[in-house]
Amino acid sequence: AGIRPYNFSAGPAAMPEAVLQRAAADMLDWNGSGMGVMEMSHRGKEFGAIATQAEADLRHLLAVPANFHILFMQGGGLAENAIVPMNLSRGAVADFVVSGSWSAKSQKEALRYCDARVIASNAADHFTRLPDAAGWKLSADAAYVHICSNETIHGLEYHTLPDLAALGSKAPLVIDFSSHVASRSVDWQRVGLAFGGAQKNLGPAGLTIVIVRDDLLGHALEICPSAFNYKTVADNQSMFNTPPTWGIYVAGLTFQWLRQQREGDLTGVAAMEHRNIAKADFLYGYIDASDFYENRISTECRSRMNVPFFLKDESRNDAFLAGARAAGLLQLKGHKSVGGMRASIYNAMPMAGVQALVSYMREFEKSHA
Ligand code: PMP
Repeated sequence: AGIRPYNFSAGPAAMPEAVLQRAAADMLDWNGSGMGVMEMSHRGKEFGAIATQAEADLRHLLAVPANFHILFMQGGGLAENAIVPMNLSRGAVADFVVSGSWSAKSQKEALRYCDARVIASNAADHFTRLPDAAGWKLSADAAYVHICSNETIHGLEYHTLPDLAALGSKAPLVIDFSSHVASRSVDWQRVGLAFGGAQKNLGPAGLTIVIVRDDLLGHALEICPSAFNYKTVADNQSMFNTPPTWGIYVAGLTFQWLRQQREGDLTGVAAMEHRNIAKADFLYGYIDASDFYENRISTECRSRMNVPFFLKDESRNDAFLAGARAAGLLQLKGHKSVGGMRASIYNAMPMAGVQALVSYMREFEKSHA
């Protein structure tokens, strides 16, 4: 630790060093099998043990109830934008809350498969606050309601998931939790399906996690590819076709790492959440107190994972980024659609990395004020 620079990439993103080292040590020979994990049959007993353990660890970490299936798929978040409506919409109505780029993309893609309605949007607020659930125009007959629970680009996060039943809807809630999975607990009482790519908080790109309530299986459209039919995938324990074996293995190492994390009496995801709150508070606190930097997101919905910020004098952006690189702080450039900077501070980013960033920001401010 401390030898490598701190990496603030939004994804694929920094991983726990212990996980990388373990994967490297196992590269040529996993557990005395004489094979690296990439060289094993997905149907052999060795990989079977890896996949079973990974699923059990994820179920434990996220407290996934028994009536939910955990599916290991491929295609990433964007493929799920099509796979979810193919499986859940029945070609009818689905409701979308647009809160930033990712939920906007989800709604557009779903239009190919169903009557995908925008029931609320924060575009007029320039994506700086979440649309208030009390004002959502929920359709009476929606097959599901989709939200992006953490908008990676705009830096907004739902700190409580909407209670659709309390809002008078019987529809299951679908959450795209790609960029904050395992950073906090999930209230499964309020969720029908959650999906996310692994490449931010869990492991390498190529693995997509889907967690789906069992009553939502078995309603796929005829056109749905078999390999993307949740029921087919579930019935075959995610082995209908070759799953992303390397991704499952490395994510499994991350799950074991997560299970070992401790903060006082807290363990696992609860420990991570505690740490993530402290990291985010420290960074936002510094930005808010400064006249040199700003974050434009409404305080109650700021993301703990993705912190976009701007230099008030944007002519200094290039100097800021060059100095950051020289100080060992990588990939801080904001998404091109938003501009400015973005610090992604996922589970693998220690508090020391956030402190190093704030120290650099303070130095830069001092020398350029
Ligand atoms: N949803 C969210 C919230 C994301 O952050 C991303 C990736 N940045 C995606 C979907 C798209 O995922 P993928 O690139 O894995 O298709």
